[in-house]
Amino acid sequence: MASKAGTITPLKMARKPRVIIIGGGFGGIAAARALRNADAEILLIDRRNHHIFQPLLYQVATSVLSSAEVAAPIRELEVRQKNLSVLLAEVTGANLTERTIDAVAPAGEARRIGFDHLIVATGSIPSYFGHDELVSHAPSLKNLNHAERIRTKILVAFERAAATSDEGERERCMTFVLVGAGATGVELAASLADLAKSTLRRNFRYINPADARIVLLDGADRILPSFSMQASDAVAIRLKKLGVEVVTGVKVETVDENGVVAGGNHISSATVLWTAGVVASPIPRMLGIPTDHAGRALVDPFMRVAPHVFVIGDAASITQGQHPVPGVAQAAIQQGRYVGRLIAKELIGRTVETTFRYFDLGNMAVVGKNYAVLQRGSLHASGILTWLLWAFVHILTLPRLQNRFRVQNQWLWSYLTRQRSSRLIREEPGPT
Ligand SMILES: Cc1cc2nc3c(=O)[nH]c(=O)nc-3n(C[C@H](O)[C@H](O)[C@H](O)COP(=O)(O)OP(=O)(O)OC[C@H]3O[C@@H](n4cnc5c(N)ncnc54)[C@H](O)[C@@H]3O)c2cc1C
Repeated sequence: MASKAGTITPLKMARKPRVIIIGGGFGGIAAARALRNADAEILLIDRRNHHIFQPLLYQVATSVLSSAEVAAPIRELEVRQKNLSVLLAEVTGANLTERTIDAVAPAGEARRIGFDHLIVATGSIPSYFGHDELVSHAPSLKNLNHAERIRTKILVAFERAAATSDEGERERCMTFVLVGAGATGVELAASLADLAKSTLRRNFRYINPADARIVLLDGADRILPSFSMQASDAVAIRLKKLGVEVVTGVKVETVDENGVVAGGNHISSATVLWTAGVVASPIPRMLGIPTDHAGRALVDPFMRVAPHVFVIGDAASITQGQHPVPGVAQAAIQQGRYVGRLIAKELIGRTVETTFRYFDLGNMAVVGKNYAVLQRGSLHASGILTWLLWAFVHILTLPRLQNRFRVQNQWLWSYLTRQRSSRLIREEPGPT
């Protein structure tokens, strides 16, 4: 195959076919690894220099782990994979006919880079359902900045509660509202309850952090809609035991600096967190390809949207049987591997006829210490053994050995002492 890339790229003349992967998340990295033996130039582009293990972001937001423990530098892949290079840049557009992408590097330098194969793995972004103005009052959780900002907001709320002599203000500061009771909302609420009721319990002389009110709101009639009713009920009971108020079937009407109005009731709160949903990153729409209501590319059974162009992970919409493949890490990883192998075969002139098949490894959510739920098809498990399984699976799937050691040690320390090591309030940049 003649490489178009070499005629266009300002990076360097490419003699080998070039595969560009946009996004160094779960899908992009799995695709890159599946191409490790390909006789091709793999270019992995990400606007961040790190891969984030998003399932543990809520633990950064609640002081259990630090940012570095749930992230890994994408550039390290260059060490391990000789045919791969990494570019820190934001992709801003693509021309699928010309087979080029446009990217802007950190210094602001714009680049047009040619490709022979393109894999779009740009993931998703938080959705405020058309009310983006809420972002300043109700931060969401998608990257390390978000997690640190939420951590700061939570810790500052306790400090403000301790410093004020106004009873109403103290109550407002000690009330935390989470909007959205999917897995992220549930995990965050439970971890916040543990923080307030255990870790911080004896840290304040003039307030009792255990008095904190944690409200988990959802417009649906039950929490954890992607789990069975049985799991959802079991988790609701568990949350109540932890002191979390679960309020379902209410729509949030407004959010401002004073709190939330939901179902006609005002809840006074200094900390409202948005855990309500995601839409695809804007890149699929930018490509001018058909997308669904959430901006995900409608891919064919080979995860393709055009000849030699693939979209995977949270940015793609694909169904299996009657069911949509869920927007979870496992799906992104399996799609990345599948597309990587497909391209590797195409590069040696073989045709791939097997379409993508998602293998459901199960869905898990952890609800505080010693309790998690697992659902796989009709199989349902919960309790301490499931929690241990959850911990084991997460340790194993963390990106590097270093992360695994660090997370394991932090968890052990927190488990034994109930302390959390990352209780840092981020300082605003200032003159000193
Ligand atoms: C808080 C939270 C908790 C979660 N918990 C779980 C869980 O417990 N289990 C589970 O299976 N899944 C969980 N998920 C979902 C899971 O993380 C996603 O399904 C998965 O990350 C999708 O992988 P991806 O490769 O499609 O995208 P991502 O992993 O999000 O990666 C996308 C990458 O693309 C890059 N990118 C985006 N746009 C551009 C651009 N224009 N230019 C350059 N780079 C770009 C981003 O910087 C990012 O690195 C959770 C998600 C969140 C947010």
